Amino acid sequence: MPKVSVVRCDNYEKELVCKKVEEAINLLGGITSFIKTGENVLIKPNLLSPKKPEKAVTTHPEIVRAIIRLVKKAGGIPFVGDSPGGAVVGSNESTRLLATIDKYWLESGLTKVCDEEGAKLVSFETGGVEIFRIKNRKYTPEVFISKTVMSFDCVITVPKLKTHGMILFTGAIKNLFGCVPGLRKSTYHKQAIHPDNFSQLLVDIFSIIKPRLSIFDGIYGMDGNGPSAGRIKKFAVIVAGKDAVAVDSVASKIIGFKDPNEIPTTKIANKQGLGESDLSKIEILGENLFDFVQKDFIKPSNAILKMFPQWFVSLMSKLIWTYPEINESKCVVCKMCVKSCPVEAIEMIGKYPRVNRKKCITCMCCHELCNYYAINVRLSWLADKVVKRK
Ligand code: SF4
Ligand code: SF4
Repeated sequence: MPKVSVVRCDNYEKELVCKKVEEAINLLGGITSFIKTGENVLIKPNLLSPKKPEKAVTTHPEIVRAIIRLVKKAGGIPFVGDSPGGAVVGSNESTRLLATIDKYWLESGLTKVCDEEGAKLVSFETGGVEIFRIKNRKYTPEVFISKTVMSFDCVITVPKLKTHGMILFTGAIKNLFGCVPGLRKSTYHKQAIHPDNFSQLLVDIFSIIKPRLSIFDGIYGMDGNGPSAGRIKKFAVIVAGKDAVAVDSVASKIIGFKDPNEIPTTKIANKQGLGESDLSKIEILGENLFDFVQKDFIKPSNAILKMFPQWFVSLMSKLIWTYPEINESKCVVCKMCVKSCPVEAIEMIGKYPRVNRKKCITCMCCHELCNYYAINVRLSWLADKVVKRK
């Protein structure tokens, strides 16, 4: 039976977080049962956009600090790395990409923590890719993973507890999408438009990387239209475990989903035998899981509609629709949305960007990556009713 630890942690005070993360790992057998002396360990936070930690978009640096310390305690060598989608702004020039990523590390507070703790920040944009061919995958038969990621002895995935506008929930499995370097992430959005197909890709990535440990930063997170523009919420919890599917199942229950199998990545991974999604078959260690389960949960509106079968959405497309819409009063015309749209559905018309609905595949990358909260999720009247009933 997989074990998942659930530990209360009320704030990001440095020593408190270190103590609580260690407590969560000790419940699972202690850090030496995961990391061996001399191993090179990649700590993979969620670095979605260059936001300050209090915005609850990125994994908090104090969680990363606590993990760096634990890895060192076990005799391992800690590294911290990610390839956030927004750092890839339509350019192939690696120098430009790296310059942009520096801003992410600085804003998120990770540069400071890594400097203080002696952990090296690594980029996935240079060093090449390893290509894995997956049989019977119609949309994404080739999985590109950074060679840098594959060079580590093990990976610890450290997601932030948040909802996701395309696939409902971003957790230990989804967090590994950042191991795909550069513009390939954008290509995947074009290839796997439906959430089920995109989730299948995420599970394939997960099955290749096989993180040794998953640790959720659930002290503050986000529900509603996450992962960057939702409602910031205090969950006061750290969730950890070896089985990433079980950890995602427990974390998604805490955020407010009724059944972990509502989350397509969890459902697919469980079906493939990659982990447990039945809460009755997961041993919860530490505190009572149900003390943390949220009762006033707001689901991401766009993702709910996308969970309907494709044929139904197409049939009802005139009545049930959802699109990103630019809020000109907040837009600073940085053009991040224009450059990051995988299908070039956003054009500059006049002073502000506009979404071309005919081209839009509603991947919600623009909504996710706009740093100024200037992209709203617009729903038709009927779609709004459907979402409120779900
Ligand atoms: S909508 Fe957001 S991302 Fe797009 S140009 Fe305006 S501020 Fe930039
Ligand atoms: S406009 Fe936004 S939601 Fe539509 S395809 Fe482009 S990035 Fe995705």
